[in-house]
Amino acid sequence: MREVLLPDGTRVPALGQGTWRMGEDPRRRADEARALRAGLDLGMTLVDTAEMYGEGGAEEVVGEAIAGRREEVFLVSKAYPHNASRQGLARACERSLARLRTDRLDLYLLHWRGSVPLAETIAGFEDLVAAGKILRFGVSNFDADDMEELWSLPGGGACATNQVLYNVEERGPEFDLLPAQAARCVPLMAYSPVGQGRVPEAGLADIAARHGATPHAIALAFVLRRPDVIAIPKAARLAHLEENRAALDLVLTAEDLAALDARFPPPTRKRPLSMI
Ligand code: NAP
Repeated sequence: MREVLLPDGTRVPALGQGTWRMGEDPRRRADEARALRAGLDLGMTLVDTAEMYGEGGAEEVVGEAIAGRREEVFLVSKAYPHNASRQGLARACERSLARLRTDRLDLYLLHWRGSVPLAETIAGFEDLVAAGKILRFGVSNFDADDMEELWSLPGGGACATNQVLYNVEERGPEFDLLPAQAARCVPLMAYSPVGQGRVPEAGLADIAARHGATPHAIALAFVLRRPDVIAIPKAARLAHLEENRAALDLVLTAEDLAALDARFPPPTRKRPLSMI
């Protein structure tokens, strides 16, 4: 499994697993946990979840999936902005740890910016690091100006990643966010890398045919072409998991990339960050 370097020198898998929409239906939980374990077996050991997903249900599914395998996993969860005060973060983290049946998170993210001052959220994260409840912190849905503000604050330079919407149809981060983060060795974690299951056939089908792959695999390979991007597709179906794992080894040619640029032009000016 190719790895991506975090600012503190830790290496994480370039391809992980998302969990949004898991844990919402009790009848599907066992299958979802099985899918996550299958993903671990394929080397996709970075698992992304959040207290928001299924209002804790997804974290419970992850807890079930990683039981007995915690050491293999780089575990990421996120706090709601309304829980991002110093005290609120400590309580939210305890609840997440209990649902995940673990004593620590590898990475804890602020899900998106809310009304709590960033300095207070950083202080909350620092408390959790000091207590060993989380090993590092990061943010999500931060645009370039939000990142600059974060980096300007005491402790903000320790931010490990920014998780944002980035895929072949949403290339806005390439204009300013990715370069700004690259300058600080802060990788971007790309969510919805296969467009929530809907990728356009036009522009991808020809390339897919050349590689004997699917349009989804091409879309994922596109996101994974950069050494500073971690992708976290969510897949409950084994066929999808296997296809996504194979996409990591799929090398897009200069011809492929030129065709993708023609169909999905890279940004030539600032585009505000999109959010799902
Ligand atoms: P996604 O990963 O782009 O798409 C997931 C959907 O695509 C699922 O319906 C899945 O189907 C399907 N799929 C996966 N691989 C496929 C393949 N190879 N071929 C065809 N279909 C495929 O979208 P996402 O779930 O929105 O994003 C991924 C993760 O990012 C989330 O699960 C979550 O962990 C995180 N996220 C974070 C934020 C944030 O605000 N920070 C926002 C959105 C998402 P099956 O499940 O049926 O296999």
